[in-house]
Amino acid sequence: MKDIHYFDNAATTRISAAALESYTKSCLNHPGNPSAAYRLGHEAKDVLEDCRRRAAAVLSVQPGQLVFTSGATESIGIVMSSLLWAKAPGQVLISSLEHEAVAAWAPMLKEKGWDVVTVRAKKGLVSPEALEAEITAKTRLVAVMAVSNSLGTIQDTKALSEVVRRKEAEYGRPITFLSDSVQALGKTGLDLSLVDAASFSAHKVHGPRGVGLLYLKKGQLQPLSHGGGQERGLRPGTENLAGIEAFTTALEELDEEDARRIRSYSDEVREAIKGSKVKALVPADQCSGHILALSTPLPSEVAVRMLQDRGVLVSSGSACSNNARGKAEAVLRASGFAEAAGNMIRVSFSRDNDEDDIRALIEALRSF
Ligand code: PLP
Repeated sequence: MKDIHYFDNAATTRISAAALESYTKSCLNHPGNPSAAYRLGHEAKDVLEDCRRRAAAVLSVQPGQLVFTSGATESIGIVMSSLLWAKAPGQVLISSLEHEAVAAWAPMLKEKGWDVVTVRAKKGLVSPEALEAEITAKTRLVAVMAVSNSLGTIQDTKALSEVVRRKEAEYGRPITFLSDSVQALGKTGLDLSLVDAASFSAHKVHGPRGVGLLYLKKGQLQPLSHGGGQERGLRPGTENLAGIEAFTTALEELDEEDARRIRSYSDEVREAIKGSKVKALVPADQCSGHILALSTPLPSEVAVRMLQDRGVLVSSGSACSNNARGKAEAVLRASGFAEAAGNMIRVSFSRDNDEDDIRALIEALRSF
């Protein structure tokens, strides 16, 4: 029996053995700066471009459409901050589900004259109709994440994309569709041809912290920082080659079989808590298998502490930031779960979980 049963994998995952090995090997074998003009530099540059090709193959996109960043927050920041440069501010639509990495740009955009409108996700889902109702001739960007980090709900990106493309044609102006895909990677199908920009984070898929990807279908944006012009000038600064190699390895390890096993775990838990005081907030068919949002009879933080006493680690919301509790509650209130907002916990699975973990989780949840 393990002492700790870790169910906060939507916050972060443990780096895999293969990704860690890639990291250390990269540090030792490719010490050159990819921008250097001598052989060691060229070798590092070749490795970097090989990683981009391999990552592009996993994501079914072109290598030139990928920018390595320090994480999803930075990937999103490049897209959102670019709006601040616009000569004529327009309108931005942000779903009520968005992670702070997107939502926190709203005050700055408003300050610069942008009209920022929240598109409410009823019961955790943004409907194409709700999105369509808000798009105007002034809309320049729509941000709807692929899978909610708080609730696990899978958005209908295809239907939402159709709305965006139709409205673009109607108004004769491009609208950027940003899909924060951090929680979808390796868990649900991804079709990046439907969106204009997408963000990914290595540490959510058993890669290292501090590495991410920005997918940009076409065109150029303004960088967040300025410097040596690396990553097409979009993410200047010496590349985190070891992190990028380790992330690439983690991407190649993603396996549908693991996603199926994770789904079977969350189904098993859903079944086992039927009739108990703990309830699933969203039906299984609307959710990614790796996130199970539950309401408990207790305030979230008390429930989290009680579970911790039994060695079961869950979060009281989207615990990827130090003020996550309030933010997670705000997302729930704005997305149709006001009544559950104060007593929700998020259980999130990964391929590292096993039957022993699931037994401990079920036993702990039934004890409420
Ligand atoms: N977007 C979502 C949906 C997330 O769950 C996270 C996790 O924290 C982020 C963005 C930020 O990712 P990162 O830690 O790579 O900046």
